[in-house]
Amino acid sequence: MGGGEPMKLIILDRDGVLNEMVVDSEHGTIDSPLHLSQVKIIPGVPGALRKLTDAGYLLAIASNQPSAAKGKTTRDNLDAVHSEVLRLAQSEGGKIESSHLCFHRSEDLCACRKPLPGLLLEAMQRTGALPSQTWMVGDGVTDVRAGQAAHVRTAFLGPNKCDICKIFEQNSLAPDLRCPSLVAFAEEISLLF
Ligand SMILES: [Mg+2]
Ligand SMILES: [Zn+2]
Repeated sequence: MGGGEPMKLIILDRDGVLNEMVVDSEHGTIDSPLHLSQVKIIPGVPGALRKLTDAGYLLAIASNQPSAAKGKTTRDNLDAVHSEVLRLAQSEGGKIESSHLCFHRSEDLCACRKPLPGLLLEAMQRTGALPSQTWMVGDGVTDVRAGQAAHVRTAFLGPNKCDICKIFEQNSLAPDLRCPSLVAFAEEISLLF
């Protein structure tokens, strides 16, 4: 590193951004993958990460993973899921520098669970990126809130007409950027700078 150029960092939420959520139509629930066999990368993500890496962005993941603490799966399963997401996401040459995961439940009152900024601050500290050079990209309100709490720019991934967007409007929480997918974000950001 060095060369005087400030580090540019993109912190990515994981589930719903890099990998698909798991829909259980029988129970009408949607959840993170709890087992290796449930990992499915979102089409276009490996190429988008490659594009961002080539453009000089450092990439990190910040993700809440409370399922083991809730007794829904094991930490070993969560570790295997995360390794598989990393493997698939980086398969076209994109490079994820670091992963920052919170394994707590909300009732554990930790300092890392999004919407608190702990994981994001950790990622910035690790890479030496300044908040002004950092993006938080996620598909949840908590991602946008965590980004705003860490004073970084925020991108919300979701459809233009969405229920979550109403929450943003009601709470004047508008993200800096709104895109339908990580692929669209990678394209948009290459035009911004
Ligand atoms: Mg998500
Ligand atoms: Zn935590």
